[in-house]
Amino acid sequence: MALIVQKYGGTSVGSVERIQNVARRIAAFKAQGNDVVVVVSAMSGETNRLVALAEALQETPDPREMDVVLATGEQVTIGLLAMALQNIGVPAKSYTGWQVAVKTDSAHTKARIESIDDAAMRADLQAGKVVIVAGFQGIDARGDITTLGRGGSDTSAVALAAALKADECQIYTDVDGVYTTDPRVVPEARRLERITFEEMLELASLGSKVLQIRAVEFAGKYHVRLRVLSSLEEGGEGTLITFEEDGNMERAAVAGIAFDKNQARINVRGVPDKPGIAYQILGAVADANIEVDMIIQNIGAEGTTDFSFTVPRGDYRKALKILEDVQHNIGASEVNSDAGVVKVSIVGLGMRSHVGVASTMFRTLAEENINIQMISTSEIKVSVLIDEKYTELATRVLHTVFGLDKPQA
Ligand code: ADP
Ligand code: ASP
Ligand code: MG
Repeated sequence: MALIVQKYGGTSVGSVERIQNVARRIAAFKAQGNDVVVVVSAMSGETNRLVALAEALQETPDPREMDVVLATGEQVTIGLLAMALQNIGVPAKSYTGWQVAVKTDSAHTKARIESIDDAAMRADLQAGKVVIVAGFQGIDARGDITTLGRGGSDTSAVALAAALKADECQIYTDVDGVYTTDPRVVPEARRLERITFEEMLELASLGSKVLQIRAVEFAGKYHVRLRVLSSLEEGGEGTLITFEEDGNMERAAVAGIAFDKNQARINVRGVPDKPGIAYQILGAVADANIEVDMIIQNIGAEGTTDFSFTVPRGDYRKALKILEDVQHNIGASEVNSDAGVVKVSIVGLGMRSHVGVASTMFRTLAEENINIQMISTSEIKVSVLIDEKYTELATRVLHTVFGLDKPQA
């Protein structure tokens, strides 16, 4: 008998019929003799609706109250799913994050899980019940409700699997696994049977929203066996995230392509070229808790330098405001910005043993007349910042040139 944690995302519980479908799947699993802990998201669209309500009242909603509002979405689905299970004769009990308790730090809207109390869940499992836990939420040391950041139910599921030492954590979603790139953007994308943990971590951090990055980090830290599957189709194997270095020297250079539209570029031009400039610019931005991603500095004309960097799109107006003061202090000639950009990244462990991967990427984009604004690389990824309108074209041509359209060897 196995202990399985299953997570069902927003689309999978998006209507009463879908919730009944999920209940039937859980019942079948239970009937095979498994213990099941289920994590659910809010019904699709619900979290966006709640965000919009809060933002209608406050431009930057009070974080504590925002979490009080956001956590309601998941509370609805746990109750409904428990009812759907009871209707088909499966004893089930729902828990909010604080009832479990999933304890987090106090960073409202992006809290991190610190510990999980498994006593009540274990007692229910022992009594033959299906345990249903609200994803995306927890409670801090003050007793306040917290949420884990968008897509955070994935992290709730993996953290519960780690706490319960589950045999497998299954992430059920609206696609049947992890693909070479987002199948909604590139129809030629193919499902991967397996993907290494390192590659999945890069893809998640570079914008593939199929798994929240913290969920992948948790899986790595606690060696949780993690699988992504479809809640809408029957019987597929999905994609397994593997931890073993498989020693496959023949592997393709690129395993997958991610893109991230949550980017805006800021340029500070004509800055006197002297020590401390990067600190004066980026220090001020960091002090405002704005994350800086890609950075480049170029030698400009007559002893000046041009400095560009990217920030999350939602923060770029705030960053520009901060830079108004900085511009004056450092004597920069101009500050401008572009929020219509996307970061496209190729990811693969195979890059370690293939040469010329980056130049193939740059040539392929040049042939399509796509201008590269910024580049950043690591051992297993190359990212470029380009005009957002080329997202689909760039992803498609890169998918083809790196052999991802063809079935895996
Ligand atoms: P859920 O609501 O179940 O959490 P999400 O919308 O968060 O689902 O994540 C699933 C979506 O992730 C898919 O519908 C797909 O469009 C997108 N996606 C992005 N990149 C990939 C990828 N490489 N493989 C599979 N899906 C991806
Ligand atoms: N409901 C939350 C969101 O939409 C959490 C999740 O679905 O994982 O971001
Ligand atoms: Mg998700």
